[in-house]
Amino acid sequence: MGMGKTIQMIALLLSEQSADQPTLIVCPTIALGQWKAEIARHTEPGSLNVELYYGPNRDRRLSNFQTSTIFLTTYSTIETDHRRQEYGFKRQGETVREKSPLFQVTFFRIVLDEAHSIKDRASNTARAVFQLKCERKWSLSGTPLQNRVGELYSLIRFLQVSPFSYYFCEKCDCKMLQWSFKKDHKHCDGCGHVSHQHYCWWNREVLRPIQQHGATGEGRAGFAKLSRLMPRIMLRRTKLERADDLGLPPRVVITRRDFFNEEEEDFYEAYLVFIMVVLNIRFQALFRVQDQVCLVRAAGHVA
Ligand SMILES: [Zn+2]
Ligand SMILES: [Zn+2]
Repeated sequence: MGMGKTIQMIALLLSEQSADQPTLIVCPTIALGQWKAEIARHTEPGSLNVELYYGPNRDRRLSNFQTSTIFLTTYSTIETDHRRQEYGFKRQGETVREKSPLFQVTFFRIVLDEAHSIKDRASNTARAVFQLKCERKWSLSGTPLQNRVGELYSLIRFLQVSPFSYYFCEKCDCKMLQWSFKKDHKHCDGCGHVSHQHYCWWNREVLRPIQQHGATGEGRAGFAKLSRLMPRIMLRRTKLERADDLGLPPRVVITRRDFFNEEEEDFYEAYLVFIMVVLNIRFQALFRVQDQVCLVRAAGHVA
């Protein structure tokens, strides 16, 4: 928050709109009012046509979406609409399916605010968001990766970055965004080859090598692929760059080299063995980070 993502996006909406295609801004429920207020505050009245697509009485008419309106909606609304359309819901004992305008139009632009909300690629919300169609896509997030490198996949998949988001076939040039084995659950709907002849590029080239080897060997190659991709798809703003706007004091880094005495060294070694045994740390890279934390803690403890 406070990094200017919203204001920058409002400027983009003002500078470039479609005459006949809508825009969709997706955010957590808590941010809905904030988006509405920010747009009202920073734009001339009438310059943007903004509507909420939210709540039990939301206007589901398709004609409403065939305009240049900017719709503000939530992740949970998209998930609900997708579920009701694909799987239906019970009404007077019968299963009813209800088409949602969200999945029938091609939006001009979709903006995912707090995009890490879809970090679990297998969640219903992420699956629903992947079904939205549009020409331009933006993911806004202060934390594109919270715990695991795998969480980046959802954002990359939403942006449909090739080859990172795709499934490929080892036997032919079949390439697909979605795992499609609906006909008999064994053979690809596209090429007819069996499922185990297909692979997810992200899992094979990035995720699995990093999970299995950490920052060494094949894992390092996985990281290299990621680091080639990220600068090409990411506009990064750091707190340091925004320090003047945020009123932060300048950051001063002082490096001081200290050495353990015999007692501290002894305590450190004992603590290290304890950490290795109890936590069973698998990756060398992770271990090094932990090592430094222990060192700081141990030094503080003994002193
Ligand atoms: Zn094939
Ligand atoms: Zn195939």
